[in-house]
Amino acid sequence: MQWIVDGVYLAVAVLFIVGLKAMSSPAKARRGITWAGVGMVLATLVTFLVPDMQNMALIVVAIVLGGGVAWWAGRVVKMTDMPQMVAIYNGMGGGAAALIAAVEFARGEVHGPVVATLAVLGSLIGSVAFSGSVIAFLKLQGIMNKAFRLPAQNLVNIALGVAAIGLGAWIVTSSVGAGTANAWLLVLFFVLALVLGAVLTSPIGGADMPVVISLLNAFTGLAVGFEGYVLGNPTLIIAGIVVGASGTLLTQLMAKAMNRPILNVLFTPITGEAQAGGAIEGRMKEMSATDAAALMRYSEKVIVIPGYGMAVAGAQHKVWEMAKLLEDEGVEVKFAIHPVAGRMPGHMNVLLAEAGVPYEKIFDLDEINAEFPQTDVALVIGANDVVNPVARTDKSSPIYGMPILDADKARNCIVIKRGRGAGYSGIENALFYADNTSMLYGSAQQAVADVIAQLKELG
Ligand code: NDP
Repeated sequence: MQWIVDGVYLAVAVLFIVGLKAMSSPAKARRGITWAGVGMVLATLVTFLVPDMQNMALIVVAIVLGGGVAWWAGRVVKMTDMPQMVAIYNGMGGGAAALIAAVEFARGEVHGPVVATLAVLGSLIGSVAFSGSVIAFLKLQGIMNKAFRLPAQNLVNIALGVAAIGLGAWIVTSSVGAGTANAWLLVLFFVLALVLGAVLTSPIGGADMPVVISLLNAFTGLAVGFEGYVLGNPTLIIAGIVVGASGTLLTQLMAKAMNRPILNVLFTPITGEAQAGGAIEGRMKEMSATDAAALMRYSEKVIVIPGYGMAVAGAQHKVWEMAKLLEDEGVEVKFAIHPVAGRMPGHMNVLLAEAGVPYEKIFDLDEINAEFPQTDVALVIGANDVVNPVARTDKSSPIYGMPILDADKARNCIVIKRGRGAGYSGIENALFYADNTSMLYGSAQQAVADVIAQLKELG
């Protein structure tokens, strides 16, 4: 029987890797998800064939419960709530990895210093990923204050980290030979690790959220990989390495996109509080849908910049309909995507792909920023932080240094949003007050529909 299990594990590893590779292209992403999902089902089912496996009934109950909740949640979750769901699922992975180590210690099955060290490291990282992800979920869901900060926050972080590592080292030394560790020591260690994850993540909010979410994702992968080694399970090791490596790369990409070293994200976070930057001059000027339609209709080039507001309004289909009408009139239309636009990595790419926007019309920040000065209209739809020029100009701003899409450098800028609502980082946007910017107020879906109606009238 073992040879069947090993064969399936190998196939599962291949499915995970090939699936992940496919997910790197929007065209093949759906296929990639299916392959990885099939791999996960196979990996779960083959558990029943593992020789000497016990507690089959409990495993079935866990599969039915977990699978049922995930199936239901996957069906009812709104697209705009996806980031929270991803955060909480990620936390579940970290928590499960930590629990594996706890159970192995309790069973006295952690033999040798290497396995004990990996079990402890996996528990520490997995617990941090679990409680950190719960905090990220609460913040993204709007339940928890984005700006929560303890007095002497960094000292508390360091003290908790040192204490957890110290206890972990104690567990490793005391478990060598015995294969187990004192129960109270284990409980204290897990409590400390969980508190560390919560305390470390609590002050991180605002524009730093994408970096911390991908960092927690990388942590979960690492924890799963370590616990795979503890269990001697190759699929867990491979899945953990794949998730850990891709999460680490994503963290680096996000940190680069924000121009924020990871250590700054952890130790000098952007709190998400509205912070006083330099005074912004100018006034907001309102524009009608008729004027917006006419300005774009008689332009040569329009760059659309979607943001979180487009996702909330579910306006992507209307936006693409509008772009096609403009193209029919000979206007060149491109889409510019900031790496942290929306609320999860790739959020805007997913929405535009869903609406049918061809990939060759979608450009990353690096590819398109040089084109804004030769662009007639930059059309900002529900984006805010990712087009805020204070990131370039105001050293006192919490987002200073973050690369932005240079919408302000276009000849004209039209901003669609409902009112004076701030972006995720909670700060004022100088773009809205610029001479070449006009505000088209309204929910993105309705505002774009109005522009479409006017474009049709113009013929
Ligand atoms: P922002 O959050 O900066 O701004 C969104 C804007 O959309 C608001 O100013 C709001 O203004 C407007 N809006 C809201 N609802 C609607 C609607 N129905 N119709 C039209 N407009 C609407 O979005 P960005 O995409 O520019 O920036 C993303 C921010 O989120 C960054 O700070 C990023 O760091 C952070 N973040 C990103 C994550 C990621 O992985 N991508 C994860 C977590 C956070 P008004 O209320 O006036 O309509």
